[in-house]
Amino acid sequence: MRKKIVAGNWKMNTTVAEGVELAKGIVAKVNDISKGVSLIVAPPFTHLASVGEVLKGSPVALSAQDCADQPKGAFTGEVSAAMLKGVGCAYTILGHSERREYYGETSPKLVKKMAMAFENGLKVIYCVGEKLDQREMGNHFDVVSQQISEVLFDLTPEQMKNVVIAYEPVWAIGTGVTATSAQAQEIHAFIRETLRVHFGEKVAEETTILYGGSCKPSNAKELFACPDIDGGLIGGASLKADDFIAIAQAW
Ligand code: PEP
Repeated sequence: MRKKIVAGNWKMNTTVAEGVELAKGIVAKVNDISKGVSLIVAPPFTHLASVGEVLKGSPVALSAQDCADQPKGAFTGEVSAAMLKGVGCAYTILGHSERREYYGETSPKLVKKMAMAFENGLKVIYCVGEKLDQREMGNHFDVVSQQISEVLFDLTPEQMKNVVIAYEPVWAIGTGVTATSAQAQEIHAFIRETLRVHFGEKVAEETTILYGGSCKPSNAKELFACPDIDGGLIGGASLKADDFIAIAQAW
């Protein structure tokens, strides 16, 4: 059985105090979700230590939103994978479309970041997804296939155990427009088939593939009912504990 995951990407939202309150709200309700569902929260770097304290002893895992592509040294403003591990992160998100778009993240850079994450014992939530014009031109399969092959194909099956893929169509992120469950299932199945062809049946069947893009309590049930959708990476709706928990109750 693949792991079912609901992960909250807080992006650049909340003060530390607000983040701590949000985390407390999530921890308080974590028993309301079924045992087979794992929760992850990804607050900003500045919040990791304080939010990590709140999560201690709970089943909610801590994630960063990014990590540096270098181990340490003169890289002003960067945060290394070792630092993230040291503060209690189990995961880091990599390749979010906002980082690809606004901070020039390319596949070679993401390969290095992923290596840093693995060297330091972090699991990775690797984001892929096409822009609106790419979907309109029918190129979404090629785009996603390239994002997967360029960054994941040199990993070993053992390393793939530490990768969660998040399919997030850029046109659905923060827009209120969600991919239909049929659109999402179609591309999730394609991603799984891509893994099957390259890595084989076991990796394909065991890799958790999340959907992200305006996922909320009202649409999570339909999305998560699809056979190849194993949960969600949630932006806006992860900023309210009740909504985040309601999404995790969608199975
Ligand atoms: C995201 O950015 O990872 C995301 C899914 O955002 P939203 O849920 O707000 O569309």
